[in-house]
Amino acid sequence: MPSYRAPVEDTLFVLNDVLKYERYNNLPGFADASPDIVEAVLREGARFAEEVFFPLNQVGDQQGCVRHDDASVTTPEGFKAAYEQFKDGGWMGLAFDEEYGGQGLPYTLHTAVGEYFSSANMALMMYPGLTQGAMAAILVHGSDEQKQTYLPKMAEGIWTGTMNLTEPHCGTDLGLLRTKAVPQDDGSYKISGQKIFISAGEHDMSENIIHLVLARIEGAPEGVKGISLFIVPKYAVGADGAAGDANGVTCGSIEEKMGIHGNATCVMNYDDATGYLVGEAHKGLKAMFVMMNEARLGVGLQGLAISEIAYQNAVDYAKERVQGRALTGAKHPDKKADPIIVHPDVRRNLMTIRAFNEAGRAFILWAALKSDVAHRSEDDADRELNEEMMGLLTPVIKGVLTDKGFDHAVMAQQMYGGHGYVEEWGMSQYVRDARIAMIYEGANGIQALDLVGRKLPQNGGRAVQAFFKEVGDFCEENRNDEQMAFFTKHLKKGLNDLQQATMWFVQNAMAKPDNAGAGSHDYMHLFGLVALGYIWGLQAKAAQEKIAGGANGDARYLENKLVTARYFFERIMPESSAHLARISSGADSMMAIPEEAF
Ligand SMILES: Cc1cc2nc3c(=O)[nH]c(=O)nc-3n(C[C@H](O)[C@H](O)[C@H](O)COP(=O)(O)OP(=O)(O)OC[C@H]3O[C@@H](n4cnc5c(N)ncnc54)[C@H](O)[C@@H]3O)c2cc1C
Repeated sequence: MPSYRAPVEDTLFVLNDVLKYERYNNLPGFADASPDIVEAVLREGARFAEEVFFPLNQVGDQQGCVRHDDASVTTPEGFKAAYEQFKDGGWMGLAFDEEYGGQGLPYTLHTAVGEYFSSANMALMMYPGLTQGAMAAILVHGSDEQKQTYLPKMAEGIWTGTMNLTEPHCGTDLGLLRTKAVPQDDGSYKISGQKIFISAGEHDMSENIIHLVLARIEGAPEGVKGISLFIVPKYAVGADGAAGDANGVTCGSIEEKMGIHGNATCVMNYDDATGYLVGEAHKGLKAMFVMMNEARLGVGLQGLAISEIAYQNAVDYAKERVQGRALTGAKHPDKKADPIIVHPDVRRNLMTIRAFNEAGRAFILWAALKSDVAHRSEDDADRELNEEMMGLLTPVIKGVLTDKGFDHAVMAQQMYGGHGYVEEWGMSQYVRDARIAMIYEGANGIQALDLVGRKLPQNGGRAVQAFFKEVGDFCEENRNDEQMAFFTKHLKKGLNDLQQATMWFVQNAMAKPDNAGAGSHDYMHLFGLVALGYIWGLQAKAAQEKIAGGANGDARYLENKLVTARYFFERIMPESSAHLARISSGADSMMAIPEEAF
């Protein structure tokens, strides 16, 4: 049986010592998040994840969701009760606007506990996760009336939300979508069409489901410029704010899929369903982007979350499973063989995952803090720069953390040998669950294109230059610090590779766009390496400062941090050269074979 222990000590180190988030207590919501409150929230989130969500993870995988003849859907045993507890615990609105019933605490804190919930039960966490994305879109683009009608109930978790983009003939290219919206005299619209792959589209956990649906108003222009966003509630909302009659939206079927069996992936049929325009007509994609950006960070977090739980179990197994002897001689002569953790190749796998997880956690919290500044600072310039930086980092977080999350779930499974391949040990579920994170919310190939094609050149490259400066300054400031020189030397090399790759695109991709497409995946991962390397630099510095200041009982933890940082720079950072070489080889050999010859 797998187990899970939320990494609270590591989160606390990142928040308190690396990010020193107390510096931000002038931001709204941060004053309420004093260190003792933060620790209490993390510990309660950890308990909740370990005791309430985690025991249902394998149950959800085995039972899946069931659609009944009346189009209702039942979630796996225990999910509804666990969701009730999630709702009653106030987790849904933890970081949400207080005006609409949220608690207004930092998004950074919400992200920290979100990792625990997704590690413990990714499929179950998706029900509130999508709701939080829908709430964000309504908050930014909805009318006052829409906000008053929907947000308090959603923030409380009484109603949940979904996002409906995908149709059978279009996923990536939303310009092709056909779902139509016909204006009515009372200002509402009649929505008709079919959406597929809708996560949490129908279930038994909430009193109403608020679908956010992309559709084309009759007569609207072709392509993405004719798409609008609508609220389509499962049950009409009466003047008293209560859910009333059924709307024309039903679940046609649920998908049988590779993983996340506990989450209902639905075909949703809209049949003259009443919908309400959100924001401006034909600007739906912009409004939906608020939700997609939130969801993309959530999906990046899923990659990290699965990597973490798979790692923890692989470590436990590697300490127990005895096979062979250490190359340097028996380490446990009392036993017939040594535990496999003595073997360097087993360590290679475990250290690679560990070096990623500890940096991935700090990376996503660092980015979440930027999001808090972007949304809460009173300084316009500060808000704008952090918003742009978040925009730049979002495809990196989504693409890199989910690609690596899957790779690491496979690595952790490998530690079990054949026992990882059978269902009994639970490792197969992590591999299956992690796989979807690379696909939904914009497949990772599309994230890479978004980074190279849109985010890099935005505003004359202001955000990427700011990122280069931040990392470059860190290297420069610590260059003469003896203890940091090793880390900054390797980080600087990675940064140079990234800057060269960026310059290569500037010189070679304008006239030949295939060069950008051919290098984008490598570029995204090169960017991820430098970002994670920078984060490792910050962690190494914080660990050294803490050790120098007399670490209170956590010296072992801090020493291990420094060793893991070293492993990252010795073993993982050198991949930057390979990425650069591939990027600068261009698109020629990739594109030369004619289509018909494949
Ligand atoms: C379990 C599950 C849950 C989901 N949940 C939701 C949900 O809640 N709401 C929702 O709306 N959708 C949801 N989706 C849909 C998901 O977001 C899409 O599957 C995804 O966006 C890809 O679209 P597609 O499947 O049509 O693939 P396609 O768009 O057909 O893409 C196929 C492949 O081609 C590549 N490709 C396409 N265009 C380009 C290009 N221009 N350049 C380079 N490569 C390209 C893609 O990267 C991909 O690898 C879910 C899907 C699944 C499986």
